[in-house]
Amino acid sequence: MPEHCKITTLGRKIAARVGKIMECNVFSTGPGRKNFLKASVMIKIEDLLKEGLNIGSKRDGLTKVEFKYERLPTFCYFCGRIRHDVANCEIAEVEEEHISSSKKV
Ligand SMILES: [Zn+2]
Repeated sequence: MPEHCKITTLGRKIAARVGKIMECNVFSTGPGRKNFLKASVMIKIEDLLKEGLNIGSKRDGLTKVEFKYERLPTFCYFCGRIRHDVANCEIAEVEEEHISSSKKV
């Protein structure tokens, strides 16, 4: 199996952990021959977005795969939910209040 197909297969497995795969392609960049993978994934609006995933085998060890999200609606990096940003995040607000009230004491 060509390297490209292996990566695509692996990529589909990874993307399947995020949501329903619509499209999956592998790109290679630059002289460092870093492969990256782009997948269009349908995500349920209530699902938490994962920052990344650890993949690997006993033989090769673990590799951390970081996810980057494109074309998202408003997205909160604090709690990982869609439909609000950090400024409007209930959880972030609670923590800020907690910090400011503990300063007063
Ligand atoms: Zn939030």
